[in-house]
Amino acid sequence: MRVLVVGGAGMIGSHVCEMLLADDHEVWCLDNLLTGFGASVAGLTDRPGFTFVNADVSGALPADLPAMDWILHLASPASPLDFRHLSLEIMAVNARGTEHLLALARQHGSRFLFASTSEVYGDPQEHPQRETYWGHVNPIGLRGCYDESKRYGEALTMAHGRRYDLDVRIVRIFNTYGPRTRHYDGRVVPSFICSAIADEPLTVIGTGEQTRSFCYVTDLAAGILRVIAAPESAARGEVFNLGNPDEWTVGKFAELVVEVAGSRSPITRQAVREADPVYRDDPGRRCPDITKARTVLGWEPTVPLREGLAETIAWFRATRGSEYARRPDR
Ligand code: NAD
Ligand code: UDP
Repeated sequence: MRVLVVGGAGMIGSHVCEMLLADDHEVWCLDNLLTGFGASVAGLTDRPGFTFVNADVSGALPADLPAMDWILHLASPASPLDFRHLSLEIMAVNARGTEHLLALARQHGSRFLFASTSEVYGDPQEHPQRETYWGHVNPIGLRGCYDESKRYGEALTMAHGRRYDLDVRIVRIFNTYGPRTRHYDGRVVPSFICSAIADEPLTVIGTGEQTRSFCYVTDLAAGILRVIAAPESAARGEVFNLGNPDEWTVGKFAELVVEVAGSRSPITRQAVREADPVYRDDPGRRCPDITKARTVLGWEPTVPLREGLAETIAWFRATRGSEYARRPDR
C-alpha cells in the first residue's frame, strides 16, 4: 500500500513510518516539524519507498501528492504545556488539517484514520474508559483547545465517512511514551526522566494520587497498524481505544522512574494552585478499557512499563545535548 503518515516525524508517527516500511509499504511522511524532528526519520530517508514532505497540513496541501491507499492523521501537538502557546495551531491541525486530509481522501478514494485521544473523555466519570463513554470535558478551560478540537476532528471524520461513503477509522490514544520525544516536552514521562537522569528533583503535581496508564510507543504503533489492516466489516466507521491498561498513580510512577534510572533524585510536590494553570483541569483517573481492540483486532500491548522505561531512559541519556534537548525560542 501507499500510506501518507501526517505527523510522521513525531514520536508515534516516526515509529509508525518505520513499521510500515518494514512491512514493505510505500510511505509518504508529511510534517512541518512543529514538535517533531527530521532526525526521527533521518534513518529512513535512504530507504526505498520513503518520501519526506515538509508541509503544514493546516494550510494548503502540496498539489503533487500521489493517490494514497491510506491517510493516517497523526499530526498535533499533544503536551498540556503546549496548550497555551500552541492553542490555535492545535485547533487548526485537528479541525482544518483533518478537513484537508478528508478532502484528499475523498479525491482519491483513500481510507482515512484519525488519531484522537483519551482526552475526549475529559476528567472521566466512568472508569476504566470504554469507547461508548461520551466524556466530561470543560470546553472553555486551558485543555479545551486540545480536547474539543479532537472531539470535532472525530465528528468531522464520521460525518465525511457517512456523507461520502468513505472508509474512516478513529483511534483514541492513551498516554504513550518512548524515544524521539522533546526533552522539554513537559509531559510526565519526559519530565520525570529528564529530572531523574540529571539527579534533580522530580515534581509531582497535586496529591500524586491521580492515575495514568502508560503505553510504550512500539506497542501503540503496532496497534495503529492492526487498525488499518482490519477488514472493513470489523473496523470501518469504528473507534478503538489504544493504550496500556496498567494503571499507576503519578506518585508511584515517580518512584519507579527514579528506581529504573538508578537516580539519586528526591521527589517533591507542587500544589496545583502553584503549578501551570493547565493542571487545574487535570483528569483524576485515566485507564483504557481495551476489550474492543483485544477482541476485534487481536491487539494488546506487550512491553512491560519497566522495560519500556529502561529503553526510553537510555535514549534520553544518549540524546542529551542533541537537538531533541534544545528548546527553540518561540
Ligand atoms: P509529537 O508531537 O511527537 O508528534 C506530532 C507530530 O505532528 C510532530 O512531528 C509535529 O511536527 C507534527 N505536526 C504538528 N502540527 C502539524 C501540522 N500543522 N502540519 C504537519 N505536521 C504537524 O506527538 P505524539 O505524542 O507522537 O502524538 C501523535 C498523535 O497522537 C497526535 O495527534 C496526538 O494528539 C495523539 N496522541 C498522543 C498521545 C501521547 O500520549 N503521545 C496521547 C493521545 C493522543
Ligand atoms: N505531572 C506531574 N509532574 C510533571 C508533569 C505532569 O506530576 O512534571 C502529572 C500531571 O499533573 C498529570 C500526569 O502527570 O496528572 C500526566 O500529565 P501529562 O502532562 O503527561 O499528560 P496528561 O495525561 O495530563 O495529558
